[in-house]
Amino acid sequence: MEIATFKAKCKNTECRHDFDAPLLSDFSYGEFLYGTIDGKEVRYYCSLDCEIWDFIDQTVSRYFGKKNREEIGVMIQKTVGFVADRQNTEIYFTQDIYCPQCCSKVRSIDTDDKTGRGNYAHLTFEEFRQLGEWEKEKLIDTCLRKI
Ligand SMILES: [Zn+2]
Repeated sequence: MEIATFKAKCKNTECRHDFDAPLLSDFSYGEFLYGTIDGKEVRYYCSLDCEIWDFIDQTVSRYFGKKNREEIGVMIQKTVGFVADRQNTEIYFTQDIYCPQCCSKVRSIDTDDKTGRGNYAHLTFEEFRQLGEWEKEKLIDTCLRKI
């Protein structure tokens, strides 16, 4: 997936690393970017017609049906990054942007400073897909306790 990139600056005073960070346009309904918490990888995810999203939605809604849709939406988004395939079990995906050099959270991207375009792979869920229904729910439950 090709996505425009913008200049991001790490605010950690000992790092101050400049790097390119992808940003979706405001019109990208149902689309998200996920980055690993070590800042090494960014992936694209589209929730529309995604059965993983629907499954998480059903589970989260069953647990937290009393919360409003917006809060439930945030929980689903966080869970998606947690259950997506990853190389290292400690390093999951979030919607936050992390500096690839010092791994601290980067709070802003300069949207006036477009740096180009990058190609980003999609989030995948092969491992999650292979789990049984009960294992899937258990994993979602683990995730909800962490967020
Ligand atoms: Zn940094």
